[in-house]
Amino acid sequence: MADPKERVQSIIQKLKGSGHKITPQRLAIAKILADSKGHPSVEAIYDQISGDFPTMSLATVYRNILLLKSLGEVLELGFPDGSNRYDGNRPIPHPHVICIQCGKIVDPDLESLEEMKAEVANDTRFTILAHRLDFFGICHQCQAGEK
Ligand SMILES: [Zn+2]
Ligand SMILES: [Zn+2]
Repeated sequence: MADPKERVQSIIQKLKGSGHKITPQRLAIAKILADSKGHPSVEAIYDQISGDFPTMSLATVYRNILLLKSLGEVLELGFPDGSNRYDGNRPIPHPHVICIQCGKIVDPDLESLEEMKAEVANDTRFTILAHRLDFFGICHQCQAGEK
């Protein structure tokens, strides 16, 4: 996991470099995304900071996330039901493990990933640019019946 403080700095630089203002809302959203604990949804980010910014709408949070995504600073994990989640700590594609009971999402450290990419490239003769690799299961807490 990248240092959340360094990630926030990198996001700020990217915003400034592309001519965007660093508003307090934008900074608060960037901080949560840089930490990315559990890969939050737009709603989860909104819930966390709406107390500090009572006039801010859910749409504002969404627009800011889209902006950071367009700058390559946030990775979007899309799901067919539209419950998208976001990772601003590691904005480049990486595998995820998703709990189907509580919705927790974590980043596994896979030593075999590079090998897997080479194997896919070899097998298909594609030049691999990105990947989407999700594992679904039941997390430790849910297995223990804690929630
Ligand atoms: Zn769980
Ligand atoms: Zn992730």
